[in-house]
Amino acid sequence: MVALSPIQRHRTHAVNVGGVPIGGAAPVVVQSMTNTDTADIDATVRQVLELAEAGSELVRITVNTKEAAQAVPRIHERLLLRGCSVPLVGDFHYHGHLFLTRYPDCAAALAKLRINPGNVGFGAKRDSQFEMMIESALKHAKPVRIGVNWGSLDEDLSTRMMDDNAQLAAPKSADEVLREALVISALASARRAEQLGMAADQIIISAKVSRVQDLIAVYHELARRSHYALHLGLTEAGMGAKGIVATAAALAPLLQAGIGDTIRASLTPRPGATRTQEVVVCQELLQALGLRQFTPQVAACPGCGRTTSTYFQELAEKIQGFLKAQMPAWRERYPGVEGLNVAVMGCIVNGPGESKHADIGISLPGTGESPSAPVFIDGEKAMTLRGDRIAEEFQALVEEYVQRRFGSSTHQKSA
Ligand code: SF4
Repeated sequence: MVALSPIQRHRTHAVNVGGVPIGGAAPVVVQSMTNTDTADIDATVRQVLELAEAGSELVRITVNTKEAAQAVPRIHERLLLRGCSVPLVGDFHYHGHLFLTRYPDCAAALAKLRINPGNVGFGAKRDSQFEMMIESALKHAKPVRIGVNWGSLDEDLSTRMMDDNAQLAAPKSADEVLREALVISALASARRAEQLGMAADQIIISAKVSRVQDLIAVYHELARRSHYALHLGLTEAGMGAKGIVATAAALAPLLQAGIGDTIRASLTPRPGATRTQEVVVCQELLQALGLRQFTPQVAACPGCGRTTSTYFQELAEKIQGFLKAQMPAWRERYPGVEGLNVAVMGCIVNGPGESKHADIGISLPGTGESPSAPVFIDGEKAMTLRGDRIAEEFQALVEEYVQRRFGSSTHQKSA
């Protein structure tokens, strides 16, 4: 039998971000970012609530104007009044040093400050403005994320490294030099923050790029050369299936190698679409890798020519929707219910086998098969459903199973 090794997490410092542990032995944390104008308090509160309800464990908001900086404490207060204590991360570029100094309530309301060393200032001002931001973080006892980005890499550093590379007998490719510049920029800034008094367990770093192979290479280097907690994300991943696939392709090998303490999917939503898809994608990714469990899984076959009706697709969707709708209450009432596996299969070929592997599964009749649907519970055929109320009856069986297995006195399934 082939044995699977559990994923060994890369050893990093543990950082406390507003009560959420990141790094160390903590589970990988899901975060997201708003796309509202932060100065629009109503819209930002609404979107943070939406993201937190979807399961975002940290929410980043941009602080790009003085109006945004003034709005931050009010957003924080409004969220607390609504019972939402999700930690807010402030995203600072260019004038962050001024906002943090002039609006101390903004710094105080945030759980973490994100600083991009490539965007804190130019020339001689860069170092002093970076220092001002770190001093604000220290003054307010806030951790920082030092987040470098391919699109805003420190120009002086990258130019110097490109020039040095050009002098070599065998110069590296421009991409290799820029990847190295990203790693150096992130690590040098983190070490500068430490020299200014910041503890290593107050620092998270990230180095985002938009190409999958570059991201994988850069993060392997960051993990090899440091023990800072790492935030992972493929920047500008894109829209729809392309963005989701690229994010999963980039993050999965890193997470599988134990690299990454917090993740974000930088998806471009369709106009007017909800922002929460980026949260769902992160959750699905972590759940697919077996790193975390957020919601019961429904295994549904893709369907083929053996099933000409859409009945099983409708049932799979119905069950998935039912489980999702129940989860807020079930999470409280039935500890461990996130680990439930349900199968909804389309015909006799794989239906009974796959249903037996699930905690509870149903194998619907394919074209030409007898109109009956065997239900399997804990690997055994428990009953057969017939007639036109199969969906409702199966849903009731799932609910009964959850109560029996995860109810307070019996939620530990016998081995
Ligand atoms: S279980 Fe049956 S209907 Fe579903 S994909 Fe397999 S063969 Fe096709």
